[in-house]
Amino acid sequence: MAVNFDLTGKVAIVTGGNGGIGYGMARGLAQAGASIVIAARRPEKNAQAVAALQATGAKAMSVVTDVQDEASVQATVHAAVEAFSGIDILINNAGINIRKAPQDYTLTEWQEVLNTNLTGVFLCSRAVYPHMVQAGGGKIINIGSMTSIFGSNVSPAYGATKGGVVQFTKSLALFWAKDNIQVNALLPGWIHTDLTASASAERYNFIKSRIPHGRWGEPDELAGAAVFLASAASDYITGIVLPVDGGYTAM
Ligand code: NDP
Repeated sequence: MAVNFDLTGKVAIVTGGNGGIGYGMARGLAQAGASIVIAARRPEKNAQAVAALQATGAKAMSVVTDVQDEASVQATVHAAVEAFSGIDILINNAGINIRKAPQDYTLTEWQEVLNTNLTGVFLCSRAVYPHMVQAGGGKIINIGSMTSIFGSNVSPAYGATKGGVVQFTKSLALFWAKDNIQVNALLPGWIHTDLTASASAERYNFIKSRIPHGRWGEPDELAGAAVFLASAASDYITGIVLPVDGGYTAM
């Protein structure tokens, strides 16, 4: 039996794929042969990501998507199926953070983080499910965080969602194993993106000092694990939680 990481002919939706980690993973999937659907809110950033993917020879399109919005998610999945005739891979990557103490959160802020990071995973997974069943199987990769494991002393709502993402990943894996849909989670460590750019020098260096690799990671460094979990090479793996963190969780 040959180990198969090839994604030729596969169609992947990457939420939040217009930048950061999402784009890093989209590039990896495209390199492995997949057609890419970038699903995020900002049209200009979506267009830039698509152009960059197409410049490498990949098939790519974008759909303006708000993962908090049920109708928007349904429309995105419909557009992807129309364009590429099916969906084989979903990466639930879109995420936001609001950093403040729990007592200072408004209900609206709390709900915005939950709706994006957790309800968005539910809506997108539910929307692709019938298409994956129709295709005879599929791959869903959910993006957690170090706060899926550790408590957060800066981002309580974010941490709650990322813990929830892991538990929901396991439930989806159990429910959909019979449909040959594998559902796994990746937990990025500390990665240079827009989301983390506002970290103070003090916090940046404190975190760095605790990473065995001795540095923060780059978005492209999630690509290998994403390709693995999107490919036939991981067909007997479901419900797992894989840190990609330079050894942070080993400490
Ligand atoms: P970025 O801020 O660079 O990217 C976030 C992406 O999510 C953007 O493409 C954004 O696009 C999209 N997005 C946000 N809200 C929505 C929405 N409602 N609907 C659709 N798309 C949305 O952050 P990262 O690349 O760092 O984060 C990607 C994922 O990785 C997140 O889930 C994050 O929690 C996780 N992560 C990041 C870590 C890090 O160190 N950077 C560590 C651990 C986890 P747009 O604004 O155009 O919609």
